[in-house]
Amino acid sequence: MTWSPGETVLLQETWRDRVWAARPMKVARDEGDFVALWFPKGTRWKAPTTPAGRPRAETRGERLATCLAQDEWAFVDASWDVDTLCLLRAGDWHAVWVSWLAPGEQWGWYVNLQEPFRRTTCGFATMDLALDVIIDVDGSWRWKDVDELESYVTHGVVDPGLAERLRVEGLSVVDRHRNGEWPFSDGWAAWTPDPSWSLPELPEGWDRLCRAR
Ligand SMILES: [Mg+2]
Repeated sequence: MTWSPGETVLLQETWRDRVWAARPMKVARDEGDFVALWFPKGTRWKAPTTPAGRPRAETRGERLATCLAQDEWAFVDASWDVDTLCLLRAGDWHAVWVSWLAPGEQWGWYVNLQEPFRRTTCGFATMDLALDVIIDVDGSWRWKDVDELESYVTHGVVDPGLAERLRVEGLSVVDRHRNGEWPFSDGWAAWTPDPSWSLPELPEGWDRLCRAR
C-alpha cells in the first residue's frame, strides 16, 4: 500500500480527530517505512489560525496553543516559501526537511519534531509538535521554537514528559548529523525533483479527516 512517485498526496496534521493543517505534496519516494515528499515553493496550503472574534494572542506559540487547548481554530491560506523535501521514517517523532533556496543551493536541514506519520486514504497524517532543530550547511545547529513548545506545555497541549522526549529526539538527530548517519549522508542534499512535476494542489475535502489505512 505505497504511493507512486509523482502522485499528489495530502499531508494532514490532525488534532482530536479534526484537521489542523493540510498540505498537498508530491511523492518522491515511498518504500513503506520510509517516505520522501516534495513540497515546493509556492505550494498553497491551509494553516490554522485564531478564529474571527476571538482575542489574538501576541505570539504564534500562544495563538496555536490557545486554539488547540480550546479546540477551536480557523484556516488561513498560506503559500510555502522554500523548496522542501520532507523525509519521514516510520516510528520517528520527527521529519527531516531538506530545503533549497535555489536549485543546487541547499539552505540547510530542518528537523521538525512531530508525531510518527500514519497512512491514510489520501496520503499521510501527523501532528506538528512545535519544537524544531535547524542544522546549517556548515554543521552548526540550534533549537527553534523552544518558546512555542513551552506554550504548548503551559496550555496542556503537550505534557511535560512528551516535551522532554522531543528534546531528546532532537538531540539524537543532531548526533546522527554529526556522525553522518541517515539521512544526512544519503545524497538527499543533491536530490532534484522531476522537471515535469507541477505544483501540488490541495484536493477537494482537504478539511475532512482522511481515514486511516
Ligand atoms: Mg516549529
